[in-house]
Amino acid sequence: MLFDTHAHYDDERFSSDENPLSVDGLLQSLFADDVKGIVNAGTNLDTCKKSIELSEKFDMMYAAVGIHPSDCFKYSDMDGVLQKISEMSKHEKAVAIGEIGLDYHYDFSPKDVQKRWFYAQLELAEQSGLPAVIHDRDAHGDVFDTIRQFRNIKVVMHSCSESAETVKQLTRMGHYVSFSGSLTFKNAKSVVEAAKAAPLDMIMIETDCPYLAPVPHRGKMNHSGLMRHTAEALAEIKGVSYDDICRITYENALRFFGIDRKEK
Ligand SMILES: [Zn+2]
Repeated sequence: MLFDTHAHYDDERFSSDENPLSVDGLLQSLFADDVKGIVNAGTNLDTCKKSIELSEKFDMMYAAVGIHPSDCFKYSDMDGVLQKISEMSKHEKAVAIGEIGLDYHYDFSPKDVQKRWFYAQLELAEQSGLPAVIHDRDAHGDVFDTIRQFRNIKVVMHSCSESAETVKQLTRMGHYVSFSGSLTFKNAKSVVEAAKAAPLDMIMIETDCPYLAPVPHRGKMNHSGLMRHTAEALAEIKGVSYDDICRITYENALRFFGIDRKEK
């Protein structure tokens, strides 16, 4: 049982020759195998809509809706866009606001614009009662300072790249961390340290597919079926069995996103 807490099946690579199964075919085969939950993360209005559509098509698919820091500069009507995100967040399969955050690596949007959208969407999470999925690339200080201002919401650091010390602080505040295939990379020392620092009941796993395929598939098109390599690495780091890490991270995901599978 694997739960992929962060994927982008709306990405055009899944509709290209790289994926001969097509998006629907691939998802059908994954859900028939050991993948028992996926959150597709929206990054702009178009991919949020596609995330909702995928969640309507597949029982075990859920959606996160939000504007990514690299996309927010494209919108001038912030209030109008936030209104649309708010409406989408009321969908029964929408389980989080995301992915939102700060990206100072690519800096596609000016920093002050990124910050304004990040703050406003955390407010939206607060109002909607949903947790938030956080993207943090080279912006650790500002991300942490912003999250700290919101006491009533839970967030997950997606594809966690925070230091072990920050992970300790965040999990003490009730927040979760999610590890991607980058946990298996040779240069992943600090990510491994972060995984060591996180309590077992606040860790989740993800693909961020089609990006970040784990070793031994690094560089190829990633998908949720390859997540077993990340789970194996995490099991070894935490000193538990593969079956246990799958069960624990699955249950953590249901709890974090407020999903009651028995109801479905
Ligand atoms: Zn992502």
